[in-house]
Amino acid sequence: MAETVADRIEQDILAQGWDTGSILGSEAQLIERYGVSRAVFREAVRLVEHHQMARMRRGPGGGLVVTEPDPGAVRQAARVYLRRADVTRQQLFDARAALELAGVVTATEQLTEDGIAQLTEALRVEAELVEQGVTTGHARNVHSVIADMTGNPAISLFIEVLAQLDEDMVQQGWISRDDPTDRAALAEASHAAHEAIVAAIVAGDAPLAQHRMRRHLQAIADLLTDDVRAD
Ligand SMILES: [Zn+2]
Repeated sequence: MAETVADRIEQDILAQGWDTGSILGSEAQLIERYGVSRAVFREAVRLVEHHQMARMRRGPGGGLVVTEPDPGAVRQAARVYLRRADVTRQQLFDARAALELAGVVTATEQLTEDGIAQLTEALRVEAELVEQGVTTGHARNVHSVIADMTGNPAISLFIEVLAQLDEDMVQQGWISRDDPTDRAALAEASHAAHEAIVAAIVAGDAPLAQHRMRRHLQAIADLLTDDVRAD
């Protein structure tokens, strides 16, 4: 019951254009609109708040306030879901390759000076981290820059989710080798691959960028093992 009401509330938020900061209605108004008990309504609000679409503001002038969508929360939920669904490295590779290969083509076609600057900056930061021996990923890496350059929020979201999941797997011991020198070598190899992919994009050579991206993703997939599960 609460889930049905939560669904209706979210549909209403979407129907009104997800207008951040607007008030959908007071508690009393909404209870009447949806025709449910206070207890069911409050349970529904908890679900909507959990989905980070709105929150209940108490007091005078209060009500159900539409909140800013949080892409980080969406990505985190998708990661947890895929881990629970026991996604295999092959499935992850297939899905990620389809998105990333489409992504490099669009990014190459829509290349701008600003895009080149962002790619160059991402490579510079990454080179510094590799130099310092930092092998963990950083938020604004080459993959997320390429994803954003597509201007397609669907491609962008799922590339980020799948890239992060690959990163999780590498960091959390889904790889067969645990030697730290191997991780440093891996970070260096990834950086070299990123440089080569970016060079192809900047040169406007989409097929070459695709070829290099596929080879890079295959190298990551080959490192992972389905036998080790972190949790
Ligand atoms: Zn990479």
